[in-house]
Amino acid sequence: MNRMRDAPVLVPVAPADGAAFDVVVVGGGHAGCEASAAAARIGARTLLLTHRAETIGAMSCNPAIGGLGKGHLVREVDALDGLMGRVADAAGIQFRVLNRSRGPAVRGPRAQADRDRYRAAMQAALAAQPGLAVAEAAVADLVLSDGRIAGVRTEDGRAITAPAVVLTTGTFLRGRIHIGEKTTEAGRFGDAPATALAQTLARVGLPLGRLKTGTPPRLDRASIDFAGLAAQPGDDPPEPFSALTERIPLPQVDCHLTATTPETHDILRRNLHRSPMYSGRIDSTGPRYCPSVEDKVVRFADRDSHTVFLEPEGLNSPLVYPNGISTSMPEDVQIAMVRSIPGLERANIVRPGYAIEYDYVDPRALAPTLELRRIPGLFLAGQINGTTGYEEAAAQGIFAGANAALAGTGQALVLSRADAYLGVMVDDLVTRGAPEPYRMFTSRAEYRLRLRADNAEERLTAVGVRCGLISGVRARAAEERRRAFAAAHEALASRWITPSQAAAAGLPIRQDGVRRSALELLGNNNATAAQLCGFWPELGAISVPVLERLAVDQRYSTYLERQEADIAAFHRDEALALPPGLDYAAVPGLSIEVRTKLQAAQPASLGAAARIPGITPAAVTRLLAHVRA
Ligand code: FAD
Repeated sequence: MNRMRDAPVLVPVAPADGAAFDVVVVGGGHAGCEASAAAARIGARTLLLTHRAETIGAMSCNPAIGGLGKGHLVREVDALDGLMGRVADAAGIQFRVLNRSRGPAVRGPRAQADRDRYRAAMQAALAAQPGLAVAEAAVADLVLSDGRIAGVRTEDGRAITAPAVVLTTGTFLRGRIHIGEKTTEAGRFGDAPATALAQTLARVGLPLGRLKTGTPPRLDRASIDFAGLAAQPGDDPPEPFSALTERIPLPQVDCHLTATTPETHDILRRNLHRSPMYSGRIDSTGPRYCPSVEDKVVRFADRDSHTVFLEPEGLNSPLVYPNGISTSMPEDVQIAMVRSIPGLERANIVRPGYAIEYDYVDPRALAPTLELRRIPGLFLAGQINGTTGYEEAAAQGIFAGANAALAGTGQALVLSRADAYLGVMVDDLVTRGAPEPYRMFTSRAEYRLRLRADNAEERLTAVGVRCGLISGVRARAAEERRRAFAAAHEALASRWITPSQAAAAGLPIRQDGVRRSALELLGNNNATAAQLCGFWPELGAISVPVLERLAVDQRYSTYLERQEADIAAFHRDEALALPPGLDYAAVPGLSIEVRTKLQAAQPASLGAAARIPGITPAAVTRLLAHVRA
């Protein structure tokens, strides 16, 4: 085991005091980092076990965090005092809020990250977390006792006991990489797969499926001709992810845009028979919304060009990540394909693109706490649950890690679809499963106006404080911001002006004789901060982000009120708990198909039952009558 500067301290796999660990987290990816830090924050003696400590926090695919829907998850992780937002701020080299011209509910903060600095910052954050130990080991087996988890066993035969275990093994379970005709067993490029653990999960009867994902080739930056390509700068000033970040420390850089050409598409079409996907060597399902370039050419046959973003992998990195041309074509086809793209005529491939197939556990086997229903104490988070993406993994990680630490205390972290995107994701996974790799979109959330990226702290930090996940600086800072926001709201809501006074000051509002508050002027009449201060100089003390939030809340207040009524109805159904182990065969009037689905899913509430695909409103009514009887 090698020690690294600024890296987590590697320990022997037993705490110094000889006691057992409370929580063991397997895997040092995005889910594992958040899970282990969350469990330790709650006070559990936590061990993070992973193959190689130097790959903790590694970004397996694109060097970017956030985006549409995903940015919301990062803000929620941050609001629960997670690491991803702070680490992305420390390593970010280009920040952009996507969809800025659209409504605030669908804006997605995104940052391009320096890959090496991201990994280093994540490792430093874990090293600074009290109560968290890190050790290198490949976990091969589970230790079970009386039907519940009692620990894990490493490949070299060591047993590590703990009453709660979180598996976050990503793409590693029986991972298999494809590059054209070549196939290699691997968890990702350069890493061995987790075959023994996959066999264990099959042996204990977990429902396993197989999914795939892919990544583009990495290009030598020096071989790219950027001269004729459009530069894409980030936002100035950059907007951080974390409420705790005051300043983005790294210099900001541009990305560049190019596009595939008809020649690119010809090359791909001519070689389709050599693609493992089209030759039938891969038959698992890939991410529909993040298709490989060969898939795009087949599925969107009428298009003769697709955008390619050339994203630097870091400030000093010699590599560029061509976002948009993920591929598993043979290397010779990859080179020809890349060189048919403007600016890349002489580009060299440093590492080929590839597809990876891996096992995942059908997440319908999980309770809404991400604990396996049939093996109490065993939690799953991240890609192992059929999701794809760093942010989805991190959000599940913090949730599962917190619940693993809370197991046995009578408390749990539970978030509903009305609380958070995290709640939406967990509910989707446990009620609908992941027949294809699951990624977050804003369209998955019913209550989008409430679940905004800009109010994550207001929605979640108090929940985190209540379950012990948040304390200290974060809790105090959130409380100060809450007070400042409430005071600003009060200040704006209690200052009034007549239409003629407003018109005299150059604010065009309807001359209807109705007085408006400063809040209305801000949210409904687009008054600027300067205009408000013209009337009330004391409002100049309110910060721009607070004013922006107040404006959004005010602008959408009517819709938000209506949404509150929908949310109240949603909570009524959620409050109707269905007892675990309910015998659905005894519910009169249900079809065999509906009974089978309910029996398998064991929904926690009437609301969750209604969201299971194929459960009809009539079946829900019968179920309601039965549980109320
Ligand atoms: P990972 O980040 O994969 O981490 C798993 C960790 O578990 C690793 O540290 C590993 O060493 C450890 N581990 C595994 N098994 C064991 C064991 N038995 N014992 C000890 N340690 C173990 N996402 C997108 O959103 N878009 C994409 O286009 C995309 N493309 C991808 C392409 C490729 C080739 C790959 C590999 C991933 C891609 N992803 C993509 C997915 C993204 O990388 C993952 O969703 C994310 O990293 C999952 O995080 P995780 O924490 O679940 O697992």
